[in-house]
Amino acid sequence: MEDCIFCKIVKGDIPSFKVYEDDKVLVFADVNPISEGHTLIIPKKHAENIWEIDPEDLAAIHLTSKKVAQAMTDSLKPEGIAFLQLNGRAVNQVVMHYHLHLIPRVSGAPELVMTNWELKPGDMEAIKKTAEKIASAVK
Ligand SMILES: [Zn+2]
Repeated sequence: MEDCIFCKIVKGDIPSFKVYEDDKVLVFADVNPISEGHTLIIPKKHAENIWEIDPEDLAAIHLTSKKVAQAMTDSLKPEGIAFLQLNGRAVNQVVMHYHLHLIPRVSGAPELVMTNWELKPGDMEAIKKTAEKIASAVK
């Protein structure tokens, strides 16, 4: 897609620090990292979000994520790795080309804000109603 920064990275028009690639996916370092080793996995074929991406590309991304997570574990020895995937500007998706963040955290590094929310029980009746609403829409 024209004007898509990730498509330009796939084509090689914009350089990237490549970690891995195959025929369906490209894996490269996030140049605005929130932790050491912050890495992105993208489909080579443009899709904006979870609603647009081909199921085969989605599967390829997740199979690749296991491979990359193992490589991170072997090379960086993180205590944990957060996977983050945003769909839509309302949830701060910035580049409108599907991407999965792999964000490792080593011991002693600052806590990842998005994994650190307060756990407090919600309204059980409202939770039940919403779950039923979603369940009845599953196709
Ligand atoms: Zn794109």
